Amino acid sequence: MTELKTDASIDAMHAAGQVVGRALTAVRQAARVGVSLLELDEVAREVLREAGASSPFLGYRPSFAPTPFPGVICASVNDAIVHGIPTALRLRDGDLVSIDCGAELDGWVSDSAISFVVGHPRPADLRLVETAERALEAGIDAARVGNRIGDIAHAVGRVCRTAGYGIPAGFGGHGVGRRMHEDPDVPNEGRPGRGLPLRHGMVLAIEPMLIGGGKDAYYEAEDGWTLRTSDGSRAAHAEHTVAVTDAGPRILTAREAG
Ligand code: MG
Ligand code: MG
Repeated sequence: MTELKTDASIDAMHAAGQVVGRALTAVRQAARVGVSLLELDEVAREVLREAGASSPFLGYRPSFAPTPFPGVICASVNDAIVHGIPTALRLRDGDLVSIDCGAELDGWVSDSAISFVVGHPRPADLRLVETAERALEAGIDAARVGNRIGDIAHAVGRVCRTAGYGIPAGFGGHGVGRRMHEDPDVPNEGRPGRGLPLRHGMVLAIEPMLIGGGKDAYYEAEDGWTLRTSDGSRAAHAEHTVAVTDAGPRILTAREAG
């Protein structure tokens, strides 16, 4: 069942989303060659702590996971697509990093992710990151009353496929609210005009995941969490929490530039 949120609830999710935005901006600014993923997790923890927010990631244990998630961010480097555990791994020049973060404030959750390159970027990685952002923008633009879930999925998938990238099947966006993962699923590929009609008050996490090598295959790493590309190519991830409103899509996790 997809819950429709009141305008007051959407405002509360926006407050949580601003904390997420600040955390991601702080992590990005801290991410330099030699910095560890655990140190980046600590940067995000501090932002959540200062805001009085809790983490919907920390201790999260979905059915597939062997252990509760140990961080407040997912940190997925290079061939890691999503769900990377923040470890003692130190960033190297040219690493492509995806950071996913959530916050819960006053009982409401927001969820967002960014990808970026540390140090000197390869042109191919910049193109991958830029395409993930473009796919996210296309998905957000389709999140309108009168459209359907399939219109978002189609918009996201078309940008990824046109650029020649792979899409890991079975992973994608979701409803967000009092819990991080609610109905409906928001796939990263689909047919326009199909699926649940979008209504004012739906709040969705839209999150393209792109595989640079162009194939869709991935595997679950030994830690039971990290998804990695099967061909070893690099991956990018971008995500916003977005409210569908009569006035158009409202991004609840927008960040200040930086
Ligand atoms: Mg996320
Ligand atoms: Mg999400």
